[in-house]
Amino acid sequence: MTVCHLYPDLLNLYGDRGNVISFVQRCRWRGLDVQVREINLDNPVKFEEYDFLFIGGGSDREQSLIAADLGARVDSLRAAVEDGLVVLAICGGYQLLGRFYRTPEGKEIAGLGLLDFYTEAGNRRLIGNVAVEAEIGGRKTILVGFENHGGKTFLNGLKPLGRVLFGNGNNGMDGLEGARYKNVFCSYLHGPLLPKNPVLTDYLIALALQRKGIGTELSPLDDSIEERANKAMVKRLLG
Ligand code: GLN
Repeated sequence: MTVCHLYPDLLNLYGDRGNVISFVQRCRWRGLDVQVREINLDNPVKFEEYDFLFIGGGSDREQSLIAADLGARVDSLRAAVEDGLVVLAICGGYQLLGRFYRTPEGKEIAGLGLLDFYTEAGNRRLIGNVAVEAEIGGRKTILVGFENHGGKTFLNGLKPLGRVLFGNGNNGMDGLEGARYKNVFCSYLHGPLLPKNPVLTDYLIALALQRKGIGTELSPLDDSIEERANKAMVKRLLG
């Protein structure tokens, strides 16, 4: 498997890099061969060569810095997404896949328009722990994480990743968190998301294997520590 970590130097808030580490490690524990390529500004990239693409969160400043670079790669990324590339995009990276992000100063940072949503800064930041009910691979699960964003995202009928049980999610208003389109998963949850929610990590690995035409029966791992951590957080947030 080949993993693309997009802009690791600019988009990496609250340990977002841990998502790549978790994806890779859970592949290696199962004897799957996996390598990571880090792609920074101006590095050439062919998205069709990858099995998993990760793009993390960043401040408004960093988002502005990469918007044009990312925009120049939109055709290749769109083709890969339509072909089923597995993508995880967090917070600032999530916002960049939509139509635009309007900053608190009223400046519009262009998004790729790959997914039909938009984001505009609200008058308060949405910060804190989050619990989200989501259906992952046909199984109801509670995802936990941490959010810190000023942008409020509004989906235009797009499927959310899940429903907020605690916290704000996309905008603190409609109870939705994240977005899904084909094999693209977007979320506001740092934490990082995948180490805290191995059910989601394994689902992404299974989707990537499926796309390669490889059997998707993943051998089980001992997740007792991760499960206890997840349950402890759910109990703290939901009682
Ligand atoms: N700049 C964006 C916002 O504040 C994203 C922040 C982030 O990635 N944590 O809405």
